[in-house]
Amino acid sequence: MKYDVIIVGAGPGGIFSAYELMKADPSLKVGVFEAGNELKKRKCPIDGEKITSCIHCASCDIMSGFGGAGAFSDGKYNITNDFGGTLYKYIGKKQALDLMEYVDAINLSYGGEGTKLYSTANTSIKKLCMQNQLNLLNASVRHLGTDINYVVLENLYEYLKDKVEFRFNYKVEDIEVKEGIYLVSGQDKSDECRKCIVSVGRTGSRWMEEICKKLDIATKSNRVDLGVRVELPAAIFSHLTDELYESKIVYRTETFEDKVRTFCMNPKGIVVNENTNGIVTVNGHSYEDPKKQTENTNFALLVAKHFSEPFENSNEYGESIARLSNMLGGGVILQRFGDLIRGRRSNENRISESFVTPTLNATPGDLSLVLPKRILDGIIEMIYALDKIAPGTANEDTLLYGVEVKFYNMEVQVDPNLETKYKGLYIIGDGSGVTHSLSHASASGVYVSRQILKEVLDKQKGW
Ligand SMILES: Cc1cc2nc3c(=O)[nH]c(=O)nc-3n(C[C@H](O)[C@H](O)[C@H](O)COP(=O)(O)OP(=O)(O)OC[C@H]3O[C@@H](n4cnc5c(N)ncnc54)[C@H](O)[C@@H]3O)c2cc1C
Repeated sequence: MKYDVIIVGAGPGGIFSAYELMKADPSLKVGVFEAGNELKKRKCPIDGEKITSCIHCASCDIMSGFGGAGAFSDGKYNITNDFGGTLYKYIGKKQALDLMEYVDAINLSYGGEGTKLYSTANTSIKKLCMQNQLNLLNASVRHLGTDINYVVLENLYEYLKDKVEFRFNYKVEDIEVKEGIYLVSGQDKSDECRKCIVSVGRTGSRWMEEICKKLDIATKSNRVDLGVRVELPAAIFSHLTDELYESKIVYRTETFEDKVRTFCMNPKGIVVNENTNGIVTVNGHSYEDPKKQTENTNFALLVAKHFSEPFENSNEYGESIARLSNMLGGGVILQRFGDLIRGRRSNENRISESFVTPTLNATPGDLSLVLPKRILDGIIEMIYALDKIAPGTANEDTLLYGVEVKFYNMEVQVDPNLETKYKGLYIIGDGSGVTHSLSHASASGVYVSRQILKEVLDKQKGW
């Protein structure tokens, strides 16, 4: 088949690329090739009864398929240049924010209307943080919630499904450059396109690396974030979460001067397993619907590690630590903060007597056998620092789940158009290493489609 544009990956980056192209020029022939399932068929087989742990499906329905890694996420669209990626370095701060706001407006018109936008502007919490050696990062955050996020995706799919050609359960295996066109192949098929947008996210990181090697596109290693997910009674953090929903707070440790930060805060949410390339780690989300909310709030505490030489594969380091936790706990390990401080493992009995009821069925154990001392010390210091602005954070019964790993793709060399050295081959979203969030990945999709549309308008010049 011949396409004007082929988009590889139907995560937020791919979806918003397709949306922007179709909105501006529905006559374009666009193919979206996705390794995972369409949205309604995405269902993790873990049911808690017959199947209680990951059975390593060929394509993980949590991470892959229409909606990408974000489909069952909390749907927090952070509108900021302070975190979530470095898109602004390529396209400028103002344009990056404008695009994130544009994405927000689309989400609202496709089912997100009525959801709340929180902001750190004019909050007294910033001062409270500063007084306690903590730094609250600036952001506006649209919280769609897992349920509304899903509805928005359903509506976007309805809009797109008859306009672009979706090919699900179709993993692209190769991209070849042939005299101004691209051959995109997989499963014994090969298709041609003039422009190719690659948006394969974290699940496509290994494949992306291979393609870059084959096409001689330069890459550089990115960081890995390691830590734990904290779960505590929602009341302890309510003064922060009621006003800001999500607060990104950074602390510099006294011992090592490492930065520890809060990440992915889920008020009244649940802790969940995450599967990356067969390794089970922890994550969390929450629902907008009060009926689905819990009495707990969860968030991650992460420390960034970046390796350069002689060892430069930061992700492999993160994977090894996650694998160690899987070896010891058969999956995610759970420990009470009080047990960690006393240097003893948690067990079923201690967890059952805890005042905080875990929302994830994880294996009670000892995180100090898994996380390197430097990282664990940083996390403990941060818990005591947070205790000053949210007393109760360092309670004995605060639950810690490990490990939480945030993998980053290696950063692919792209120009300010997010285009590789091959004209018409764009690498965007988390797969490019440039973005690490829903809003930045989506914005990068809109951005490249607008670059392509500029050329389409100029049809006489050989489009
Ligand atoms: C549990 C969870 C919760 C999260 N919560 C939030 C949140 O609240 N806020 C936030 O900002 N971010 C959140 N994130 C991160 C967010 O989901 C990602 O930053 C975002 O989805 C990146 O979008 P993307 O399009 O770049 O990649 P992805 O969403 O990863 O999509 C890439 C798609 O490409 C497909 N693909 C990969 N390789 C191939 C191939 N070779 N051929 C065809 N298809 C391929 C994959 O199957 C996948 O569907 C969360 C992530 C997880 C896992």
